[in-house]
Amino acid sequence: MGSGAAGPRGGNLRQDLVAQQLRHPSNGLPRRPAAPLPGYEALDPCVHCGFCLPACPTYLVTGDEGHSPRGRIVLMRALERGEMDAKDPALLEHLDACLGCRGCEPACPSGVGYGRGLETARKQLFEARGLSPMARMVLGVFRYGGIWRPLLGMARALRGTGLPSLLAGKGRLRFGMGMLASTAEVRAGTEKAEKTERAERMNSPTFPSFPSSPSSPSVALFRGCVMNALFNHVHQATKRTLEANGYRVVEAPGQVCCGALHEHAGDLGGARALAAVNIAALADRADFIVVNSAGCGALLKDYGHLVGSENAGLVASKVRDVSELLAERGPRRGAPLDLEVVYDAPCHLQHAQGVQQAPLGMLSAIPGLRVRLLPGSDRCCGSAGIYSVLRPRMARAVLDGKIESFAVAEPRPHLVVTGNPGCLMQIGAGLKAARLPIEVAHPVELLDLSYDEAGYYG
Ligand code: SF4
Ligand code: SF4
Repeated sequence: MGSGAAGPRGGNLRQDLVAQQLRHPSNGLPRRPAAPLPGYEALDPCVHCGFCLPACPTYLVTGDEGHSPRGRIVLMRALERGEMDAKDPALLEHLDACLGCRGCEPACPSGVGYGRGLETARKQLFEARGLSPMARMVLGVFRYGGIWRPLLGMARALRGTGLPSLLAGKGRLRFGMGMLASTAEVRAGTEKAEKTERAERMNSPTFPSFPSSPSSPSVALFRGCVMNALFNHVHQATKRTLEANGYRVVEAPGQVCCGALHEHAGDLGGARALAAVNIAALADRADFIVVNSAGCGALLKDYGHLVGSENAGLVASKVRDVSELLAERGPRRGAPLDLEVVYDAPCHLQHAQGVQQAPLGMLSAIPGLRVRLLPGSDRCCGSAGIYSVLRPRMARAVLDGKIESFAVAEPRPHLVVTGNPGCLMQIGAGLKAARLPIEVAHPVELLDLSYDEAGYYG
């Protein structure tokens, strides 16, 4: 396939790809350059069967082979061989439009490591053409705590005015307001005064009422950037529920953004620089490192691969999603919550980390909670790091199907729960734009509420 042979919606791409494969002998496997880039070999098992196509959100939205995993794999191989230029508009359009959700991986019977291939391709693209001004600005902000802390602090203050909730709706600005409004704590079915009193009590220095013993496993809380600034209530819920299940939670000062946004964009240097700071902050702090953001957790578990040092591997080996630690303990049962809940699985939890049952196991400790999975609950919501900022149209189109499934669900759910800040914001904003009276929450918030109702917190 020649450079630019297929446009962004090139209907001939599939035929071109097949023709290209036929030009290459060796059983359909493409030739490699003399010094192949590590990572592309993960694509070797692809036999172009197309089983992954129905699992790909961008293919489902566009019906375009170039927006499918199979099409992108052929484009990545063409990039690897130097048959397509790293600045080819068609190549950029198709690879940039990939959510990186890895929904194609479990659908693949050949075990193709799509994510590793994409990581290598994006690194190559980053080195060849850099970033768009918008991506450069957003990633620049998250490189430096001196920038993102005050900015996110201002966002939190704006959220506190209640304006984002009032202004939430359709359109880019109003959708952004909906995203910000969706970061607020949800205490379903509780009155405001009661909520304030409870929050004060639960955040008091005398908490928790479960004294830990020196033999309790210690857990360092990964605070991150957006989670720390806008979802501190999820951090508090994480600490309380872990302590209620016999863990000793410790702080690890000196942390920064995990670097996942940079890694997704191909800026591996930026991601490694941030990882190095976190590794220094987290190494030797505790038996486990708990993360309640699926995107951060996926990268922290991959620090060994990203950084390649012994310390990085050690830190990575200790990382657990909060649901994993709690599910390991049972967890302890709470008080009943009479709620209809839909669980939506974050891609970076289910595909990247392979954590599927633990969140449901955690929620099963809440009597009376009716948890359902809707069709497409395992499909990306379109958030995907900064994808929804860079490609809002495609992100919204991907989200629409999910929102529709919430709208028609019978009985109507009270809450959608998902363990990733980007998903909470994207789905929450979509629900507000569709004027659906459904809230979003992190699963650990519900367990925390159930424990509070049970009187575990004194
Ligand atoms: S990635 Fe897997 S499922 Fe998709 S075309 Fe290749 S072999 Fe088939
Ligand atoms: S990572 Fe997601 S968007 Fe990209 S090809 Fe795979 S399924 Fe499609």
